[in-house]
Amino acid sequence: MNSKTTYRESKKKKNLILKVYNTLYGYFGKQNWWPAETPFEVIVGAILTQQTSWKNVEKVILRLKEHGLLEPRTLYNLDIQELSNYIKESGFYRLKAQRLKNFLDFFKKYNFELLDLTHIEIENLRNELLNIKGVGKETADSIILYALEKPIFVVDNYTKRFAVRFGILENMSSYDEIRLLFEDALKSENEKETLIRFKEMHALIVELGKNFCKKEPNCSACPLGNLCLKKGVENEYSKNS
Ligand code: SF4
Repeated sequence: MNSKTTYRESKKKKNLILKVYNTLYGYFGKQNWWPAETPFEVIVGAILTQQTSWKNVEKVILRLKEHGLLEPRTLYNLDIQELSNYIKESGFYRLKAQRLKNFLDFFKKYNFELLDLTHIEIENLRNELLNIKGVGKETADSIILYALEKPIFVVDNYTKRFAVRFGILENMSSYDEIRLLFEDALKSENEKETLIRFKEMHALIVELGKNFCKKEPNCSACPLGNLCLKKGVENEYSKNS
């Protein structure tokens, strides 16, 4: 493939992603993510939601709030065994209690000041977060985007599944390839608009994944039905019909 073709292909993909954004936004409306009252609540939620449903996380967040524990210093001083007991419903609770503690150890170096984290350049901040044991790319990027309000795109399994089926990604694409593609497509000249688009697009894709582009997709009702190539969908689901 020559460079002109590559350029055209990449431009086409970016235009499609923007079209997807506008279509999903028009269909589902503004999502206003992340569902949390404070940036610290976002961070705790991002760690607890690993490998579990949001419903379970909500219950745990509520319990922590009711006991006045959703505050960095208080949580830091809480014994790990006690913390495990409070977060049981989030699943893998011992592991997650340790992960929360790992994050809090890191956060203590910044005196539990979120503002101090926001002053770190985005790539350095990402590397620092990724150095915390138990914080992977999706969690780190969720913290950066939704708690610290810095423009980075969050990729999850819904993103990958929809994008492969839609025809804008190969199955083998890495997390960062996907992230950079979406960031490139959604970036605006206006920084505030870029941040809004990154936040909204991730939330909109989650809605799409929950309602239409599920493991067994509902393409006939999907708002992207006319745009999507539905790669692999026919083969996979025609077997049972
Ligand atoms: S049309 Fe089907 S495969 Fe494409 S995004 Fe919608 S549900 Fe997924």
